[in-house]
Amino acid sequence: MPITKIRNILSSKQIPNKYRCRVKVVDYMPRKFENFTRPYCTICKKTFDKVKDHEPVCVRCEASGNKIKYAFLFSLLVEDDGKHFLPIIIFEIGKLWKFGTKHYYIDKEKVIGGSKTTLCGNYFDVCIERYKTKQGIRQKVFDTRLI
Ligand SMILES: [Zn+2]
Repeated sequence: MPITKIRNILSSKQIPNKYRCRVKVVDYMPRKFENFTRPYCTICKKTFDKVKDHEPVCVRCEASGNKIKYAFLFSLLVEDDGKHFLPIIIFEIGKLWKFGTKHYYIDKEKVIGGSKTTLCGNYFDVCIERYKTKQGIRQKVFDTRLI
């Protein structure tokens, strides 16, 4: 897939569509890396809020244990060398949620030491799907290893 400039993505009327971009991260949400993961209920197919120091139990169906996986859910603001910005969403279901282990959240040092260099400053290639929702146009990442 060739590299597309963000300017061309933003001006394209073709939605949905998929692109590859060469970008760097200029900002991210949420602010705390440990909040990049959320418990995900495999029954309800939805994420829910973490309760600190407590095994995750689904707020809708009360499932727990091996029914709960963790999901990476965060957003990045990326910029390309044309100085155009694009917000992108990362949603990826990970492994089983293991309470009391490092899977409770992303290992802080690994993320800050490893991914912050990846996350902020360096250019990397990202595959982006652009699509419409009721709230507007969104971009999500696919086939890209960020962490
Ligand atoms: Zn549930």
